Amino acid sequence: MLKLLHQLSEIVRLAYQYRLRPTKHQAAELDRWLSMLCAQYNFLLADRFNWYEQNRSPINACPLVCHLRELRDNPDYYSQKKTLPQLKKTHPWYSEIYSQVLQDVVKRVKVTFDRFLKGDSNGKRSGKPRFKARNRYRTFTYPQMKEGCLQGNLINLPMFGKVKVVLHRPIPDGFKIKTASVTKKADGYYLTLSLEDKTVPEIKPDFNPDKINGIDVGLKEFLITSEGETVAIPQHYRKTQKRLRVIQKRVSRRKKGSNGRQKAVKQLGKQHKKVADKRKDFHFKTANWLLSKSDIVAHEELNVKALARTKLAKSVLDAGWSIFLSILTFKAENAGKLVVSVSAHNTSQDCSSCGEKVPKKLHIRWHDCPHCGCSKDRDHNAAINIRNRAEGHPVLKAQHLLSDSRIGCEAYTIPVLRLV
Ligand SMILES: [Zn+2]
Repeated sequence: MLKLLHQLSEIVRLAYQYRLRPTKHQAAELDRWLSMLCAQYNFLLADRFNWYEQNRSPINACPLVCHLRELRDNPDYYSQKKTLPQLKKTHPWYSEIYSQVLQDVVKRVKVTFDRFLKGDSNGKRSGKPRFKARNRYRTFTYPQMKEGCLQGNLINLPMFGKVKVVLHRPIPDGFKIKTASVTKKADGYYLTLSLEDKTVPEIKPDFNPDKINGIDVGLKEFLITSEGETVAIPQHYRKTQKRLRVIQKRVSRRKKGSNGRQKAVKQLGKQHKKVADKRKDFHFKTANWLLSKSDIVAHEELNVKALARTKLAKSVLDAGWSIFLSILTFKAENAGKLVVSVSAHNTSQDCSSCGEKVPKKLHIRWHDCPHCGCSKDRDHNAAINIRNRAEGHPVLKAQHLLSDSRIGCEAYTIPVLRLV
């Protein structure tokens, strides 16, 4: 138990996303870098494929007389990295890109190709890597940022220059900027900073800050994600619960000190354990499922006492939401992923699409926004708000975030509320 608590309290890396405000010239330059990097990515990928196609020969399909082609070493991360100086000679415009950014493209190719051949840490292989169209190549990364790269509201990107950042929340105390990624999205450019607390060890390097999911506890469902997927409270859970009540009654009906009562008490204990085990199993499965599809899971800051006082009490306590969050955090840490909690303030009232407040009472299960026409299940809307808060999405206007300064610093998980 102590070990678990220890692991839960170790949060090592955070990803904060900010909006960038490049000048017109800078935006054009960002696009130019992206298109050059995209071309290089495709080139390196083709280089890998060529080797793979030429050298892969399934035993049964190998003709008796094999034509031996000239042997070439399998291109790997290091050999591909070594081609970069040559690239800069033949295509001098590539020397305008910061070398570590260029090297990071080689790494991306390595990661996708390794996943294709060997699979990820769970041995799950992904599909054949695809060439990227220019508009699908949206991110470049500085793998090592220097201290002091953020001056006021300007981020100093080596060989690119200083770009204006909308700092809607401060970098939390004790954290240093480790890497910086620039991403082009439909509505503009974003800067993702991965922040590291130097006091704890590093986690998985290919952590993707864009794979973020918000979850909210539902009334009928166990949870709903910001993608709109729901996890139902399992049927068997209800059944064992019912059985628990039957045995409970049996205990109270029998005479104190009688053999029959003792027997029933034993049964009750067994049933309680059964319920707990099934719940635990369900929690672990749900946590695994969530973590298989997201690198960051965001949830509302939970105040169990406050919840228990409301009508929600039964479903919240039944489903063991707080226990689930502890398990989720524990699993995430082991997988090198992150669980963050955000302010629960108005998550069900605010519109996830335009940010306007749309007041509604608890019995209103549907969110209909008169301002932008957004129409969604109430809990789905809340889950999107939770995700947006975790990534500092622009729809939650900077003002709003600043006025509620709690949001800025709380991308931590409160480790454990209560464990059984
Ligand atoms: Zn709206």
